[in-house]
Amino acid sequence: MKYISTRDQNQTVAPSQAIVAGISPDGGLYLPESIAQISPDVQKSMLEMDYPNRAAEVLSRFLTDFSREELLQYAQAAYSKAKFPSPAVAPVVKVRKTLSVLELFRGPTCAFKDFALQLLPYLLTASLRKNGETREVLILVATSGDTGKAALEGFADVDGTKICVFYPYGGTSNIQRLQMTTQRGLNVMVSAVHGNFDDAQTGVKQIFTDENYRSLLAEKGYLLSSANSINWGRLAPQIAYYYSAYLDMVRQGTIRLGEPINVAVPTGNFGNILAAYYAKLSGLPIARLICASNRNNVLTDFIRTGTYDKNRPFYLTSSPSMDILVSSNLERLLYLLSGSDTEVRRCMDALKNAGRYQISEEVLAKLNADFDCGFADDDQASETIARTYRETGYLPDTHTAVGIRVYEEYRQRTGDDTPSIVAATASPFKFCPSVLNALGFPVPEGDFDRINTLSVKTGLAAPRSLTALCGMPERFPGVVNPDQMRNVIDSML
Ligand SMILES: *Cc1c(COP(=O)(O)O)cnc(C)c1O
Repeated sequence: MKYISTRDQNQTVAPSQAIVAGISPDGGLYLPESIAQISPDVQKSMLEMDYPNRAAEVLSRFLTDFSREELLQYAQAAYSKAKFPSPAVAPVVKVRKTLSVLELFRGPTCAFKDFALQLLPYLLTASLRKNGETREVLILVATSGDTGKAALEGFADVDGTKICVFYPYGGTSNIQRLQMTTQRGLNVMVSAVHGNFDDAQTGVKQIFTDENYRSLLAEKGYLLSSANSINWGRLAPQIAYYYSAYLDMVRQGTIRLGEPINVAVPTGNFGNILAAYYAKLSGLPIARLICASNRNNVLTDFIRTGTYDKNRPFYLTSSPSMDILVSSNLERLLYLLSGSDTEVRRCMDALKNAGRYQISEEVLAKLNADFDCGFADDDQASETIARTYRETGYLPDTHTAVGIRVYEEYRQRTGDDTPSIVAATASPFKFCPSVLNALGFPVPEGDFDRINTLSVKTGLAAPRSLTALCGMPERFPGVVNPDQMRNVIDSML
């Protein structure tokens, strides 16, 4: 199976090359040229499998230059009991008659990005070997919070890799900061940068595009790479959990094998919901995909009208991981719907030059055949947390609450009673102030008092990876100016 670029369908590479490159030289994103089907018989055979075997089965259809055994070995290491203590790895919890929640936050950093970033180090190092690359790989990440910690946790002590993460000083929550500054591992480095996320991001981009620095690193035996969410190696692992969730719903008796479900996803960069779409395209019986946004509802407008317009105010919300105005993975959907690299180039040029683009009536009709959408503001998310907890005993985080709210609105509007899952993308303990507020409890001063209060008031156990941060020594207290970021990297090599 070949992968092609969304901006040039003649630019073909092997799956492992797509993972090494991350982005195509023409600026496009890699995707498989055709989509292999996972037949109903194979799906049936996956019913009795554990999560790593299910993941290997799905991944083997997409990463065809890896053997099933290789993929299984990586999945077993990535989704081990030590990393994902829950036996199901991605548990499905039935919350209401037609609504189940897919818990994607039972990994080491309590957010769904662990599913991709625990596996990516294995995929990336193997891809380098397959392509004859002998240098060590140096991963650079600029993060506003969740991605940096998930990448650190994934790459910590992985042979042949080093990872360096930059975050904006004062620009993350204190828990997120502690998650990073206390990171274990002999191959990791973390530094705060004076300025905001864009300053850190720009600094990293400058390092990536500096040819002199790259060749200096090459002389020292290093190859620069990123753990960015547009890398196919981050998307592919996410397809697997939709299969696993479906099979668990069958095992739980919520649906019969072959019966359709709907999937609602709280969305930011459009990676997670695109993985659900790939699950559908490869044969999983998914009827509707429901794209849920917060007040930054650029995707809601796009799916309703066919016009993508990022010229609008940017809001900071209680679901910060969805605060985004340019959803980069949407480029892959545009290609899948239009089948035309020319059309993708036209849209992406317009986005770059004018900040907006419009798709044709025909492509919009195709989009609406599979996707529904909606958004919820902070008050609505807060009300959903309180009501869901009161009526069902289930406590969603702020991001998941947006997904539940939009799903409920969809169901009322359409009367569609199809059994559905909402992707739960983070633990409520990662967003204690908002969740405590929603439940009407006072919010204590310190982070660990907040976690403890939420645990005591709800009777839910707080994730150990968060409570363990209390009193842990901070290994990386440093802050630098953007022009000193190189020194930080040099200090670790
Ligand atoms: C990253 C993130 C999202 C958004 O996911 P996308 O794949 O970017 O759409 C939603 N919720 C949480 C908690 C996240 O960390």
